[in-house]
Amino acid sequence: TPASTPGGQKTREEKIVVTVRLRPLSKREQGHKDQVAWECVDEQTIIYKPPSQDRSIASTSYTFDKVFGPSSVTEAVYEDGVKNVALSALMGINATIFAYGQTSSGKTYTMRGITEKAVNDIYNHIMNTPERDFNIKISGLEIYNENVRDLLNSDSGRNLKLLDDPEKGTVVEKLVEETANGDQHLRHLISICEAQRQVGETALNDTSSRSHQIIRLTIESSLRENSDCVRSFIATLNFVDLAGSERASQTHTDGARLREGCHINLSLMTLTTVIRKLSVGKKSGHIPYRDSKLTRILQHSLGGNARTAIICTLSPAMSHVEQSRNTLHFATRAK
Ligand code: ADP
Ligand code: MG
Repeated sequence: TPASTPGGQKTREEKIVVTVRLRPLSKREQGHKDQVAWECVDEQTIIYKPPSQDRSIASTSYTFDKVFGPSSVTEAVYEDGVKNVALSALMGINATIFAYGQTSSGKTYTMRGITEKAVNDIYNHIMNTPERDFNIKISGLEIYNENVRDLLNSDSGRNLKLLDDPEKGTVVEKLVEETANGDQHLRHLISICEAQRQVGETALNDTSSRSHQIIRLTIESSLRENSDCVRSFIATLNFVDLAGSERASQTHTDGARLREGCHINLSLMTLTTVIRKLSVGKKSGHIPYRDSKLTRILQHSLGGNARTAIICTLSPAMSHVEQSRNTLHFATRAK
């Protein structure tokens, strides 16, 4: 439920914030005479509206807390709910921000902007909170075919092990964690992770559509005069650029098919199950965090006390209508 801040602005305080963002038609799509199939008719509604009135397809409308149309800037997406999720990590609450959508729908574009804005806000908060000492660490990893790779250490190999630590939960063995000495240094480390992901992309064709990228910040702070645990905070903040959602919506999703090499689906499909169950709440029963690498790594930053924002990105193109529908269905179930 939306709450009001003193300024009268609506903020979203629920545990899972779901946002829908429709990107503009690209030059390339325009060149191919592709057409816009979706329209944001108001701040909450997106409708399927093909240019030639094809009566065989019903014009469907979808309603969300907030939808962002093609002229929206990333800043607006960030300010609406995502920001609150990110900043809760400064108060010791684990948080995760996802971009979900088909390949080319704008996940990387959106996540980069969101990460940038969150880093700004984190350091603004640090500047405005002189009574606390902050320590920020970063790690970056990629999951490709259920193999975990370190994005800060290109020498660490492609298949890092996950270990169960009695105190910390699931940890990635040998994953490099660097301490950020200020915002410029943190930005630099983030850019290393992004560049490292691109190295993988050229080597293995369509990695970015198949891989999940996680940039993980660990934010610790304590009061200067009084460093007892009660006044100390520690939380992780994850920025997750997911594999293309077309990888989760193929029809053959049974175990046999997965073993045949469609491993890429496993983390994404498990994540969608986990999110669906979390959004249903307590009655949903067992939550299968342990079924994939992605959900194991994120387990303590999902559910429980943690906060989650999911930005569902959509291509406006006629040629992508089916995938856009799938994304909207996911967004509806995640709410
Ligand atoms: P994905 O990561 O989902 O595969 P990208 O983020 O790479 O998609 O976006 C595909 C293309 O569309 C890129 O060229 C990107 O710059 C452009 N793009 C994505 N979202 C927007 C947006 N909201 N406004 C303008 N251009 C966008
Ligand atoms: Mg991408």
